[in-house]
Amino acid sequence: MGTPLAEREEQATAVLDRLYDAYPDSTISLNYSSRFELLVAVVLSAQCTDERVNATTAELFEEYATPQDFANADQDELAERLSSITYYNNKAGYLRSAARDIVEEHDGEVPDTMSELTDLDGVGRKTANVVLQHGHDVVEGIVVDTHVQRLSRRLGLTEARRPEAIEEDLMDIVPKENWQQFTHLFIDHGRATCTARNPDCDDCVLEDLCPSSKLDNGIDLASGKEWS
Ligand code: SF4
Repeated sequence: MGTPLAEREEQATAVLDRLYDAYPDSTISLNYSSRFELLVAVVLSAQCTDERVNATTAELFEEYATPQDFANADQDELAERLSSITYYNNKAGYLRSAARDIVEEHDGEVPDTMSELTDLDGVGRKTANVVLQHGHDVVEGIVVDTHVQRLSRRLGLTEARRPEAIEEDLMDIVPKENWQQFTHLFIDHGRATCTARNPDCDDCVLEDLCPSSKLDNGIDLASGKEWS
């Protein structure tokens, strides 16, 4: 029986406890060896799978690794190297522009504040949160990607739709020490079980807590529509 706990704080804590048990090694799945490579990988991962990004950066970072490399890169050549990535042309432009700003305004160092990061081309709050958390050990918010967005709504933790509004709701109910791991756990569960089109509610560790469970609820709260 999928029934959420009465208070959202309780529901969030119960969900996290189960997911910590289910995914004890949950962490970021992008590969990088410096803060700048992390920034590049996260920019490339927007609307693209981490696997594809890792496959691309494995070769890319052999030739382009520093802000200077990207700042001096030829647009067409860089875009060609990113051609298996979604929106590769735009992303090549964002990376060249962000790298120039980092070289010219930040002495070649990736900034460590939300406002300086989001001033860079191609860097929104989600990307900045990842770079702050994994590049600088600064936790200022909760990274809301497509999995966090979908699962948070399915599990009754928020009714908001915009990532920024979802993040605000989650920050109100999730203890700060869990903000970073919350994202990784939700991504792991979203990939393994609670997929967008065909969640495996029969085999889900959250089934009894989930108001969207297909086993006894007709509505997917992520979309607000009946399960098909
Ligand atoms: S898999 Fe089903 S029961 Fe589990 S969280 Fe997703 S919708 Fe809920």
